[in-house]
Amino acid sequence: MLVASDLDRTLIYSAAALGLTMPDRDAPRLLCVETYEHRPLSYMTETAAGLLAELAARAVFVPATTRTREQYQRVRLPGPPAAYAVCANGGHLLVDGESDPVWQAHVRRELTDCAPLDEMRAHLRHTADPGWLLKERVAEELFAYLVVDRDRLPDTYVKELGDWAGPRGWTVSLQGRKIYAVPRPLTKSAAVAEIARRTGAPVTYAAGDSLLDSDLLLAADHGWRPGHGELADSGWDAAHITALEERGVAAGERILREALRRAR
Ligand SMILES: [Mg+2]
Repeated sequence: MLVASDLDRTLIYSAAALGLTMPDRDAPRLLCVETYEHRPLSYMTETAAGLLAELAARAVFVPATTRTREQYQRVRLPGPPAAYAVCANGGHLLVDGESDPVWQAHVRRELTDCAPLDEMRAHLRHTADPGWLLKERVAEELFAYLVVDRDRLPDTYVKELGDWAGPRGWTVSLQGRKIYAVPRPLTKSAAVAEIARRTGAPVTYAAGDSLLDSDLLLAADHGWRPGHGELADSGWDAAHITALEERGVAAGERILREALRRAR
């Protein structure tokens, strides 16, 4: 079987996203799986780390992330290196760590019907307010994202951006401090379907917390979403997807426990 999972706020968590609501003496031991500029950045529970190592040995485990390749490559997940990974929201399909050129060419063809990236960036620069905009970034020359001050971001901005982007073939997603604008054909599910085809895996499981994971979840045979995040907040639901109660890093552990139970 194949298990494709989002990383950030699904399997791995920044300190701010851990959601450790229990008394300190009961908090789970954590494993740091990413450092950035010499500082610890992302964690999973020690128990989740053990579950992931076993899962990766028993199933085709596919990290499926919106991160760029560079951002992905600093994550050091437990277990053997993933033979396949999806980066840039499906823009890059990594095979043994290298981006597959055949997939890159396929992606370029798929994007010809969407408004160009430059048009989206011009709109973002025109509409974003320096009062809440912290950074504007381009990822892999494929899509753009804004890093924003959530406390100052007007409630209406993401909706208005989505209304503008939709007819131009782009999707907008708000995740933590980041607003992503991504061409609609650039999906995790398309890349995971290609991996399922190449590996011959008959069954696919998926996990994710944000709008950019919804296609991945819908395309899977079964899946899980955490009790936190963009999908949970919007009440997103599907018959074959289990909406977990767990929030924060505990949700990551539960997802891995459920996936491993099926792999066994
Ligand atoms: Mg996520």
